[in-house]
Amino acid sequence: MNLNYENAVERVLCSENEIKEKVKIIARDIENYYKDSEKKLLMLGILKGSVVFMADLMKEVHLPLEVDFMRLSSYGKGAVSSGNIVIKAGLEKKDLSEYNVLIVEDILDTGNTLFWLVNYLKREHNCEDIKICTLLDKPDRREKPISVDFGCFTIPDEFVIGYGLDYNEMFRDLPYVGILKREIYEK
Ligand code: 5GP
Ligand code: MG
Repeated sequence: MNLNYENAVERVLCSENEIKEKVKIIARDIENYYKDSEKKLLMLGILKGSVVFMADLMKEVHLPLEVDFMRLSSYGKGAVSSGNIVIKAGLEKKDLSEYNVLIVEDILDTGNTLFWLVNYLKREHNCEDIKICTLLDKPDRREKPISVDFGCFTIPDEFVIGYGLDYNEMFRDLPYVGILKREIYEK
């Protein structure tokens, strides 16, 4: 292991404190949206990237809720995802018609993954109300008609790491989001 954490980050995009503040703000938005609903709330985290965000967000949302996770993998070239999604770990419950589903994801990039997931949840799990919550939104690269309902930060088209996001499975544990130095992935 010779990836030096300190020297890998070009620039911090979202500091630990900025993330904390934003998580509180969207938690209030989420509470306001769901508080009068008859249905139960399921927060659905997409592994592995959402794990840090999900853990912080679920503590801030003061509503009764359940959590579940899915792990998805997409066959694409390099850093760009494709529409070909494979479920590596699926949901516990089959019928989700009694739930409002809030997908919690690290980043919405091309939209291929979440566009596929929303259709899958409607088709296979009878979901009616599905909303999308992401830490980051990279709208410049969008390929599918899909948008964030509850989002923390809109970022430029840069490859970012930290707070759950990885480069080759590393850096998920950084407490902030930073731009990865190009020399690390271009060498
Ligand atoms: P999409 O299907 O929207 O293109 O892809 C979303 C997935 O691509 C995210 O869940 C994330 O795993 C990955 N991704 C997209 N942009 C970045 C980025 O800047 N950094 C990292 N680490 N992953 C990214
Ligand atoms: Mg991901």
